[in-house]
Amino acid sequence: MTRRYDLHTHSRLSDGILAPAELVAHAHTRQVDVLALTDHDVTDGLAEAAAAAAACGLTFVPGVEISVTWGNQTVHIIGLRVDATAPDLQHGLARLRATRLERAREIDRRLQKKGITGALEGAQALCHGATLSRTHFARFLIQTGHAPDLRRAFRQFLSHGAPAYVPVQWAGLEQAVAWIRGAGGQAALAHPARYKLSPGKLRSLIGEFKDCGGAALEVISGTHSAEENRRFAALALRFDLRASVGSDYHGPEKPWVEVGRLPPLPAGCVPVWQDWKE
Ligand code: AMP
Ligand code: MN
Ligand code: MN
Ligand code: MN
Repeated sequence: MTRRYDLHTHSRLSDGILAPAELVAHAHTRQVDVLALTDHDVTDGLAEAAAAAAACGLTFVPGVEISVTWGNQTVHIIGLRVDATAPDLQHGLARLRATRLERAREIDRRLQKKGITGALEGAQALCHGATLSRTHFARFLIQTGHAPDLRRAFRQFLSHGAPAYVPVQWAGLEQAVAWIRGAGGQAALAHPARYKLSPGKLRSLIGEFKDCGGAALEVISGTHSAEENRRFAALALRFDLRASVGSDYHGPEKPWVEVGRLPPLPAGCVPVWQDWKE
C-alpha cells in the first residue's frame, strides 16, 4: 500500500495554530503515515512532535522552513530530516528570529502611524514560540476589528506594498542550503508557484538552488493548483531534482488547506524519500 506523506506543516511554535502533539494527532486521524513538522525558522516543536508520533506509530520527519532572501524576493527553503542540534543551523535560525523581532518593532511603529496601538504586545501575546510572524500581527488585527480575515489583514496592512510591510534581509540561499546539509538534511524549495517571478527568473532560482546543493522541489503543495503541480513536476525532472509533497498546513484557520490532503506525485518524479530508511 502506498504511504501518505505530508512534509510541510506548521505548529504554534511558529505561525500554526495547533501544539506539535495536537498536529501529530490530527495528522494521524487524517491517515498520514509520514509527517514533517517544518516551522518557520525554529525547531523547538520537533521533540514534542517526535514523541507524539512515536506514541501513535506515525513516522516523523524533523524539519524546518527557512526564510531566505534571493534578489529582493523572499523564498522559503524546507529542510527535511535535519539534526536540530547542529550548531550552524541553530545559530542561523537564532539570527533569523532576532531579525523577526526587529521587524516586529518596525511593523508596530508603522501600524501606530495608522492609528493602531498595542500591535507588538498583541502579536506577542498570540505567539507561543520564538517565531514572531506577520501572521500573529494579522490575527491581532482581526481580533481588534481592523481586518475581517487573514487575507485582508495581509492585503491591507502586511503584504508587500501595504503600509506596515517591512522589507527584511533573511538568510542567503546558499547559506540556508548549507545549514540544512550541515545538519544532515535535504533542502527542498517550498511552494515554488507562490513566488512572484517570471518563468525565466524562476528557472534561475531553481538552477541556483540545485547548484548550491538543493535536493528537491516541492512539486505538490496545498497552495498549488493542479496545473501548478504538473508544471513543477516537469521542472523537477528537467533540473534533476527530487520531488517533495507538503500541504503547508497552518491549522483550522485556513480550512482550504488540510493535512495529508494532497494528490499523488505525477509519474516520473523521484520522491524526496526515495532513499530514506525508516
Ligand atoms: P513572515 O514569515 O512572518 O513574513 O510571514 C509569512 C507567513 O504569513 C506565511 O508563511 C503565511 O503563513 C502567511 N501569509 C503570507 N501571506 C498571506 C496571505 N495573503 N494570507 C494569509 N496568510 C499569509
Ligand atoms: Mn506561515
Ligand atoms: Mn512558506
Ligand atoms: Mn510553510
